[in-house]
Amino acid sequence: MPRILTVLGARPQFIKAAPVSRAFAEAGIDEAIVHTGQHFDEGMSEIFFEELEIPKPSFNLGIHGGGHGLMTGAMLQALEPLMESERPDWVLVYGDTNSTLAGALSASKLHIPVAHVEAGLRSFNRRMPEEQNRILTDHLADVLFTPTDTATARLRKEGIPEERIHLVGDVMYDAALYYGRLADERSNILSRYSLASGDYVLATVHRAENTDDPERLRSIMEGLDEVARQDKTVVMPLHPRTRAACERYGIQPRYIQLIGPVGYLDMVALERHAAVIATDSGGVQKEAYFHGVPCVTLRDETEWAELVEMGWNRLLSPRFELRDALLAQMWITGSQGAPYGDGSTVGQIACHVPDDSISPKSYPLWCARQLLNTVLEEARR
Ligand code: UDP
Repeated sequence: MPRILTVLGARPQFIKAAPVSRAFAEAGIDEAIVHTGQHFDEGMSEIFFEELEIPKPSFNLGIHGGGHGLMTGAMLQALEPLMESERPDWVLVYGDTNSTLAGALSASKLHIPVAHVEAGLRSFNRRMPEEQNRILTDHLADVLFTPTDTATARLRKEGIPEERIHLVGDVMYDAALYYGRLADERSNILSRYSLASGDYVLATVHRAENTDDPERLRSIMEGLDEVARQDKTVVMPLHPRTRAACERYGIQPRYIQLIGPVGYLDMVALERHAAVIATDSGGVQKEAYFHGVPCVTLRDETEWAELVEMGWNRLLSPRFELRDALLAQMWITGSQGAPYGDGSTVGQIACHVPDDSISPKSYPLWCARQLLNTVLEEARR
């Protein structure tokens, strides 16, 4: 059995890793988790490990803050000796953060095979740190798990050898299905914040292109504030980066219901009951679709173009009229489809109602096992 070292660090990675790590534990696979510390506080990290029952990290590097170079460099410096002493058979990384790149680069330099979950995504905006991390990680990885046909085609176009690419679908859909049910049972966030189902706007903003640009951030917050004043309650779990940026630029919305970052079950409940979602998050765009809620994406481009083509998502550059777009999108239902799977893998399972023979409880585990099998097959080659 191979020994796997998983490198994680940021909120969306905890969510993607949860079902996979559970499968490793069930199958008796030796997985050690390294938490880089990129997201570190209770609301952005701890709560996900508890709620999603992710095994406690074996190593916590405690690295956060500073610029991209400082953070990534510190991670490389800490990861290399750790990987040298642990000598895993595989290093597993998720998504597109600095932790993803640091994990992939450290392993690659030590000739340890790297598997990348959520490979092949592109926004074609090279200024985004996430885009830089994705491109570099994909070209370092030995096994690339893609969520969509588009991502697979993109990797082929970039010259990644065919045998490295595995179309498995989107692991976040597994999480959405499983935790969607749990959220219905366990979350009481609607009553906590006096929200009426189907009668509020959910908003999240955290991308550097919005938070580091005072004009864009002001335009988003003013647009949302306008909706909150005139039309509907707007609830916004505020990312720490966005809170700091608002303070820095003196942006003080008066009508938006600002709350701190919430745990995943509460977030899923907020998504499922929203009239419309406004976001610049990659994960939240997809979750809106998974839960059948229309979405406006506050960016100039998206990695999840399928959802725009299907009508579920509308791109809106924050320079334009946010209120009109939100009110119009509220009533839109996109076309049906299954863009996140092909019929024989995790993503395929994820994009269809699960087979009756698979109980909801064992479903994410089963999905994750498919993923694990693909890694093992590759290791045997
Ligand atoms: N999320 C959460 N609580 C929040 C905001 C987001 O649990 O207060 C979840 C959300 O449901 C999604 C993930 O975090 O699964 C998305 O993370 P984020 O927006 O930070 O990153 P991105 O997806 O853009 O990489």
